[in-house]
Amino acid sequence: MARYNLPLGMRYSTLQERKQFYSSEFNLQKVAEWFDMRHGRVKFAVIMGRHTQIYPEKYREDASTTIIIDEYKDLEDVKQQIVEFLPEAVYYDRNVYDENGEKVGQELAFDLDPENVVCPVHGSLDDKMKRNQGLSFCELELDMVKTEAVHLYENLESRFSDLRVVYSGRGFHIHVFDLEAYKLTAKQRLEIAQQVKQEGFHIDDWVTSGEMRLIRLPYSINGLVSRIVLPLTKQELESFNPVTDEQCKPKFLG
Ligand SMILES: [Zn+2]
Repeated sequence: MARYNLPLGMRYSTLQERKQFYSSEFNLQKVAEWFDMRHGRVKFAVIMGRHTQIYPEKYREDASTTIIIDEYKDLEDVKQQIVEFLPEAVYYDRNVYDENGEKVGQELAFDLDPENVVCPVHGSLDDKMKRNQGLSFCELELDMVKTEAVHLYENLESRFSDLRVVYSGRGFHIHVFDLEAYKLTAKQRLEIAQQVKQEGFHIDDWVTSGEMRLIRLPYSINGLVSRIVLPLTKQELESFNPVTDEQCKPKFLG
């Protein structure tokens, strides 16, 4: 099977481009709205260059480290810290903490990535791993994973009432904001993950079970593909094409 690259126009962002984006385009108002309904303090996290090997030289030793940002005055301050690190990825912690820092719940989420679907051209994730292409994907896979996201959304609608879907730069995340979902136990989360997989969805069960509690921050930039992490309505999702959609393209792409 031939080697392949990312869909046309999807590429790593340079440090200068990350700087341009976070300095002048990053929409803090939208970020604030995303967290409107959450109580307690949100922890953020950045990874500077684990996959891209692109990072500020002075942070070479921490280039692959997950750096937690939990000391900040306000979102403007978080933005300043992001501009300092110029990361390839920005996340937030789905755990909800009380004033004393005790975990009191966790946002439920589902992560659908294109490398997990079996592509008729490029094969399964195993096939891709054997070619050292675990993070690669094609437009066909993107379209397949989008269809899965629509179906998973519809499936979850029968069980939850407050769902948000987010284009992650590669695939899609579905977040559940229902209050009772925050209270699910680890065992219940694992059961939901297993059930959804049995129904044929290619989710990352680490995310749903809660073992991986970090998730990409909406409105940040995915520096592996130069795309904005973008919340979508279900209607928008159905016709969404991340290769051509202007809404998810940072200005530096022109
Ligand atoms: Zn493919």
